[in-house]
Amino acid sequence: MDVLDPLTDGHGRRISDLRVSVTDRCNFRCQYCMPADGLPWLDREEVLRFEEIERLVELFVALGVEDLRLTGGEPLVRRDFPRLVSMLAAIDGLEDLSLTTNGYLLERDAMALVDAGIGRINVSIDSLQRDRFFQMTRRDALPQVLRGIEAIAAFPQIHPIKVNAVAMRDFTEVEALRFAEFARSTKFQVRFIEFMPLDADRSWRPDTVLAGEELRAMIDAVHPLEELPRKPSATARVFRFRDSEGEIGFINPVSEPFCADCNRVRLTADGRLRTCLFSLHETDLRGPLRAGADDGELEEIIRAAVWRKELKHRINEPGFRRPARTMSAIGG
Ligand code: SAM
Ligand code: SF4
Repeated sequence: MDVLDPLTDGHGRRISDLRVSVTDRCNFRCQYCMPADGLPWLDREEVLRFEEIERLVELFVALGVEDLRLTGGEPLVRRDFPRLVSMLAAIDGLEDLSLTTNGYLLERDAMALVDAGIGRINVSIDSLQRDRFFQMTRRDALPQVLRGIEAIAAFPQIHPIKVNAVAMRDFTEVEALRFAEFARSTKFQVRFIEFMPLDADRSWRPDTVLAGEELRAMIDAVHPLEELPRKPSATARVFRFRDSEGEIGFINPVSEPFCADCNRVRLTADGRLRTCLFSLHETDLRGPLRAGADDGELEEIIRAAVWRKELKHRINEPGFRRPARTMSAIGG
């Protein structure tokens, strides 16, 4: 496909990062994401087929997207997922192909994912203690997830491997130093993500957020930290330990929004384009795709939607409205 003029939004931001949700289904029920009983899943025919995802990603890459992250729901529950990875890895011009997973099926799939051409993997782990992990994810799965992350770490070409923990008040405080020790003693970069109002249980309140700065100060008091330089579009502030190996990062969308440098858009499992995690509007790409739109028509729809990308989220403003979809249905 020819290279086209790069995608830009109406605020002058260049869009170079696409997150594709490959399924809304999940085998976990994390407190901050899904209800205990799950959500009504999309019907099979509503979900984009591999060839449809491939076609849209090719178009986004022609429009200047360089980084693609596959997410969900839980991507590894999608049947034959490594085959999709190999289809996408073959797209010319894609520089970075990564995956976010809860790690439960990683032991099974590690080799297939590497063979398919995955570049980087993030694994979500909210606690390093089995009972607290169970409390947060509603699954007694920590040993299985740790086996998964070890299985992927056996492949040195998958680098870096990051561990993401959602930071919640009255839960994550006691995890901070354990994760710091983990980051110091393994090659995994640990990152804390502030809890955002995208949970299906609607338990988010401003005071349920544990700010990254608070966690950073707790860790710094025991293991002094030094901030590393960052790219403007990077979401995490990353620190190294002054006295040992290892890195620890803080993604602070609530306390320190990074919207001004946002370069990303999202495609849901049912083919809707979302220009912000908190978008109240989304743009249907599946309908036109299945109705036979050519690349030029799809390009026009994508450009118009991206042009209207939100300036910023409004979590901290009065009158903030949550999107109808919650995290697992958006693709985090
Ligand atoms: N199931 C995979 C996983 O958990 O890694 C991928 C999808 S999950 C929606 C992507 C990321 O979003 C995970 O790291 C998860 O912890 C994070 N997440 C989910 N709900 C969140 C919330 N309300 N606030 C902040 N992060 C959240
Ligand atoms: Fe599933 Fe990931 Fe949501 Fe947890 S955060 S319920 S693993 S989609």
